[in-house]
Amino acid sequence: MSFGLAVAAASLSAQTTAPVTAAYRLDYDRNFFASAAAELADRRIVAARVDSLSHLIPRMNRSAAALQSAFRLMDRISADEERHDTYLKLRVADSTLDDASRQARNQLSGRIDPVLEAVNQHLATLDSATVGRFVRQRPALAQFRFAVAEARRGRHSGVAPGVDSMLGSLQPAVTDWQNDLYERLLARTRWGTVQTGQGEADVFQQSRALRTDPDSSVRAEARRKLDQGYLAQRDLYAFSLLQTVRARNAMARARGYSDAPAEVYTSRRLDPASVRDLIRRVRQRGEVAKRFARDQRAVPLAAEPALSLDSAAGIIRAGLAPLGAGYRRELTALLDPANGRLDIGPGPLRQATGFSWENPRVATGVYLYWFDGRAGDISRLTHEAGHAMHRRLMTLAAVPRVYTGGPLLAEPVAQFNELLVMDYLARTSPDTATRIAALTKFLDVALDAAYGAQDADLEQQVYDSVAADVVHTADDLDRISARVDSAYDIPLDGDAAGHRWMQVRLMWEDPLYLSNYMYSGMIALACFARFSSDSARFVPAYLSLLKEGWPAPAQQLLRQHLGINVDDPALVPETFTLIERRLGELEGLQREF
Ligand SMILES: [Zn+2]
Repeated sequence: MSFGLAVAAASLSAQTTAPVTAAYRLDYDRNFFASAAAELADRRIVAARVDSLSHLIPRMNRSAAALQSAFRLMDRISADEERHDTYLKLRVADSTLDDASRQARNQLSGRIDPVLEAVNQHLATLDSATVGRFVRQRPALAQFRFAVAEARRGRHSGVAPGVDSMLGSLQPAVTDWQNDLYERLLARTRWGTVQTGQGEADVFQQSRALRTDPDSSVRAEARRKLDQGYLAQRDLYAFSLLQTVRARNAMARARGYSDAPAEVYTSRRLDPASVRDLIRRVRQRGEVAKRFARDQRAVPLAAEPALSLDSAAGIIRAGLAPLGAGYRRELTALLDPANGRLDIGPGPLRQATGFSWENPRVATGVYLYWFDGRAGDISRLTHEAGHAMHRRLMTLAAVPRVYTGGPLLAEPVAQFNELLVMDYLARTSPDTATRIAALTKFLDVALDAAYGAQDADLEQQVYDSVAADVVHTADDLDRISARVDSAYDIPLDGDAAGHRWMQVRLMWEDPLYLSNYMYSGMIALACFARFSSDSARFVPAYLSLLKEGWPAPAQQLLRQHLGINVDDPALVPETFTLIERRLGELEGLQREF
């Protein structure tokens, strides 16, 4: 603990220096390819490998040997795709004018994805008796039983295969234009700027930072201008959202589901009724989120000193130290600027975004456009580093690519790390403003379960209202939005008038994904509660979960490793009691300050 204190204290004196130094730039040569030419040359090798796989497809279900070759090749190609796609994505992030990389990315996925999809369709036709026979011949195939079962589950059993593939090819034309329209509406809006203590800020691009600006008049003006920007095309936002819902419901019904929520939730192995039930139980606890919102507005934001990126890295390492020596070693390597895995800081052509990345079996890392050295941004870096570490642990455990991603477990891992680091900073910083900011951020992450439920509630009610034919206009959507928000928040200005639905971008970008945040917030909190009560037991079990990937349904893995059951009625009271206690602590700190 003394280590963290020293770091925090040392950085206080360095608050006037820029948080990010030039050292935090991606080393492409070291982590990807020696040159752009080398990357291009490798793409040709990948293309040849994709051809081999397409030739193998007709034979892959006929013998154990062919199936094993197909799995091996698929693993290889999936890693190839991730490697090139990530490289090109990072190039575009570094220079938004890099159209060549953007195009190459599209070409690459256009070349590879249909072949991987065809493999998946073939896997889906394997019955369990054949799989059993193949496994007896080649025991190494046993680990892919779940992958085959998943491929089979992905097939829409309610319709004939021919109809299913026809629906699949129509899907983009039916369901993609709404989000394209949404994006265009955003892009052509004149959002305007707001004058802040640190200069002029773009109301839309910097809306995240403006929401927590220390000056309340800046926050209010930013909110008003943002609302005005959305209002300018309110009718078209309503049109595109209602068309999203209608199109998704129509596609779902054609595939034999009752509606789009049933299709999406089923694909994530969630029972639509239990999703609604969890929303309802969290809504009943909405008062805690309201209390937090009320507190935030009553107390002026404390101006905390900015930490350098080096100091922030020290805090992240110290906060995650309880995860053990092995974790710490890998984390230190990730955060060491000499390894060129962190790409942090703004630039005139750089993309204003943040994400973690992976070059399979070589390296993982983080891209972050902005880092201001305060608790919120330290938490964000912790979050992305948490994803990068999760991927790294799977690499070290040689998890097959087909099991390196899946539902429910990715976000909680990143959020749990945020909780650990913010809790650590709130306990150890010698500076009260920093302690308040860290505890505030802790609660912000902890309340993700409530914010996620709020958004999922909104989306669910929009789908229900469209199905019941009681929503036709922007006014109708305003009414739904205002009603939902009043259960979780004390909305201000435009939000109080119900305008917030226009800002919930994922309803267009990735419909019905929002409930995922409710689940991940809940799981992260449940992890933190178990860590707090018995870290010696929790940590090894938690690390074993991380190292395994997704070789089974996520709910089953959670139960097996951590004893967490997302449908357990005790989960909501358990996690919200923890939030209430921490909120009480924050209120105490704020009174003293
Ligand atoms: Zn994340």
